[in-house]
Amino acid sequence: MSKNRRESNNMHDGVGLWSLGIGPDKRPAIFLDRDGTILDELGYLGDPDKVVLYPRVQDALMLLREAGYLLLIVTNQSGIARGYFSLEDSIAVNLKMIRILSELGAVIDGVYFCPHLPDSGCPCRKPASGMVQKAETDFNVNLEDSWIIGDTDKDALLGSEAGIRPLLVKTGKRDKGAVPSGVPAVADLNEAARYILEE
Ligand SMILES: [Mg+2]
Ligand SMILES: [Zn+2]
Repeated sequence: MSKNRRESNNMHDGVGLWSLGIGPDKRPAIFLDRDGTILDELGYLGDPDKVVLYPRVQDALMLLREAGYLLLIVTNQSGIARGYFSLEDSIAVNLKMIRILSELGAVIDGVYFCPHLPDSGCPCRKPASGMVQKAETDFNVNLEDSWIIGDTDKDALLGSEAGIRPLLVKTGKRDKGAVPSGVPAVADLNEAARYILEE
């Protein structure tokens, strides 16, 4: 590809995207559940003042990011459709979490959330793969080398739905429902980072 052609492609793709570090090469991602995986599982968290991180999650996230993974949060937030909290409140929770993490040195690349009810049939509520597919396009993700880390069977099932490897953590409320056999489970996010980096 000639230099001029590349420059014109850059122009076409937009300065903003490139400034976020999105280049032509596909990158693997760690898809992360939020509640019960990064944040203390309180149930329908809609108050930014109640954001509490599990111990040292920033260390796990920094290690994974340094290893070249994008960090993309995928979270079901049906509390919005249920009317338990507003869209704005939910966004405020995400922003609070991102700010705390970045102050601790861990940068999150993106947050995707499903605001719909479980029976809405939407394509985004986990274990459906809509959020992962959107992120794949937005961030040029290499799904083959990507993982989903979460605390429930929905997160594990998302792995097979989206074609990414699942890893369960025993923090949060980990559903008592059927966890697909063969899905590895570790104590917490720090153990999960170690597990993935040793693969
Ligand atoms: Mg969870
Ligand atoms: Zn949805």
